[in-house]
Amino acid sequence: MILDFKKLVKFDIKKFSSYKSARSLCVKGNIWLNANESPISYEFSTVNKHLNRYPDSQSKDILYKYSKYSNIDYNNILISRGIDESIELLIKTFCNPFVDKIIYFYPTYDMYKITAEIFGVESIKIFLKNDSLKKYEKIKNNINYIKLIYICRPNNPTGCLMSKKELINILEITFGKALVIVDEAYIEFCILESVVPLIKKYSNLVVLRTLSKAFGLAGIRCGFTLANSEIIKILNKVISPYPIPSITYEIANFALNKSFLNFMEKTVLKLNKNKNWLLKELKKISYVKKIFKSFANYILVEFYDSSFIFKNMNKKGIILRDQSYKKGLKNCIRISVGNKIECKKLIYELKKKIL
Ligand SMILES: *Cc1c(COP(=O)(O)O)cnc(C)c1O
Repeated sequence: MILDFKKLVKFDIKKFSSYKSARSLCVKGNIWLNANESPISYEFSTVNKHLNRYPDSQSKDILYKYSKYSNIDYNNILISRGIDESIELLIKTFCNPFVDKIIYFYPTYDMYKITAEIFGVESIKIFLKNDSLKKYEKIKNNINYIKLIYICRPNNPTGCLMSKKELINILEITFGKALVIVDEAYIEFCILESVVPLIKKYSNLVVLRTLSKAFGLAGIRCGFTLANSEIIKILNKVISPYPIPSITYEIANFALNKSFLNFMEKTVLKLNKNKNWLLKELKKISYVKKIFKSFANYILVEFYDSSFIFKNMNKKGIILRDQSYKKGLKNCIRISVGNKIECKKLIYELKKKIL
């Protein structure tokens, strides 16, 4: 007998389309410039040989080291299985299904909206390109329903940075009514722009951080939530009992040592340099229509015909991230900054296409 399991699925999941991660798109190639990962890898070895015991639910060592690194007390930090777990945890903790709503600024990382949808939470979209006053007005008009406002800073996929002034205004409008979540997945590429120091003044500010991007550790799934200690206490009640694998703790512990932090900072300098080189070269290419200013390790580029470029680069084994399906980003492709060889190969192939 063939069972129709679809009948068992909850009704809001039936109509739901899942997040298409770069990895799940399953394309073939040898130059991966599609997931904003670090192209520079460090070779780790683990000493943890016995794994029959559960790990700490929150490792004191890691909390202490991340506290030093981010310059905030360890009571203000929660460790999670990447930022993705934290995005979900905040919605699970603060949003009543079918009652509360979230706001996100479009176009951005899809997981805010998708996660909200999975939990029966409606999301309100505000266009990033709207002027500040229009943004504030929309927030004020919805303030009674809103629990969380997600701001990706630097923003993925555009690379832009919401101004601190605008962010502070949003913190003030929402103070006492909603939490403002700033996703700093890429902040190491412009570390002076971090808003972690604002947590002291604005207790409704939550900052999300990760080891997946600049640290080059996407494989271990380790992220951090930085916020007022009362918020951290509440989140600790809701998070699953042992979210972080022992092996992840072991590698994160090493990655937060001074020597590795130096290595990470050098990587950031190198990638920022490669980005500037790419920007300079992209400007010379005639079928590039627009290059977006970027504060992160990727560049959003508008072409005259992106699907032609995308397919042709694919044929050469260069995998980029198509963004043209998003409203307002027609003909846009996001290019992660690779190592120097990868950047040179990309530009070489792009230039060859016009001839
Ligand atoms: C990559 C990415 C994440 C995912 O972070 P993890 O810590 O790997 O879960 C979150 N937010 C943004 C904006 C990202 O680009």
